[in-house]
Amino acid sequence: MNFQQLVLASHNAGKLKELQAMLGASVQLRSIGEFSQVEPEETGLSFVENAILKARNAARISGLPALADDSGLAVDFLGGAPGIYSARYADGKGDAANNAKLLEALKDVPEAERGAQFVCVLALVRHADDPLPILCEGLWHGRIMFEASGEHGFGYDPLFWVPERGCSSAELAPADKNQLSHRARAMAQLRQRLGLA
Ligand code: IMP
Repeated sequence: MNFQQLVLASHNAGKLKELQAMLGASVQLRSIGEFSQVEPEETGLSFVENAILKARNAARISGLPALADDSGLAVDFLGGAPGIYSARYADGKGDAANNAKLLEALKDVPEAERGAQFVCVLALVRHADDPLPILCEGLWHGRIMFEASGEHGFGYDPLFWVPERGCSSAELAPADKNQLSHRARAMAQLRQRLGLA
């Protein structure tokens, strides 16, 4: 499949920059903000459903092929929570409150039961009603630590232990995280599916 331009279903300039760098220069990502400021309601129950819903909405609004990403943290002991609600786990009070709530939820849980994964699903649709979206899922397995550590990254990075590096994901240099992360893994698959790898 050959795309010169894709609309990214996100208003987040940082995310556009990060995904553009991972995707490479041969496909230009444009922000959905060029076409509309209205964000669709994320009514799905899974990362896949929400990524498809956002991609279809962006394709409908822009008339262009569209890419969406949906990501978050799924903690085994919590049955996959906070999952698709990761950004608003503590009712929209922000990253520090989300992390505090997660530590509290796991306060009596031993290390062996603190497994978790960051999840990133990328959905690409050729048009709004595309019956065959390209779906790529990147998982990054780790553990939830007992206290926060590290200054890089965002969100749950200070609590996410990366076994292959022996540190939290907030202690990884950004370039290092971008080689290992759930988003990098999903994007590597997408590059292959688009014949860019
Ligand atoms: P979004 O898909 O960018 O809205 O991310 C959803 C939420 O998942 C973020 O607000 C973070 O709380 C969490 N999250 C997703 N990716 C990461 C990551 O790479 N590090 C830390 N937290 C993340």
